[in-house]
Amino acid sequence: MKIAILVREETALKCTGRGCLKAFQQRKDAFSRYKGEDELELLAFTHVGGDLDHKIKKMMKNGVETVHLSTCIRSKSPDYEELMN
Ligand code: SF4
Repeated sequence: MKIAILVREETALKCTGRGCLKAFQQRKDAFSRYKGEDELELLAFTHVGGDLDHKIKKMMKNGVETVHLSTCIRSKSPDYEELMN
């Protein structure tokens, strides 16, 4: 299964994504649902800025089935609900 992680644009300017990547690698938090899944591939790790529709289309074209929104988006982005949709 191929997944992607979207993070907050402003946060991406100073965050290396360590927390997201660690959670992914250790299958913790939102990624615990993938425990035991051997074929899991993180295909994209990017921020929501720029042409987000284009990014999403590229992800889908490349087989991404699920896009995870980072904790920093959930806690700090006023458009979190819109992004979820
Ligand atoms: S949730 Fe946001 S702040 Fe935390 S590691 Fe991921 S991108 Fe960085």
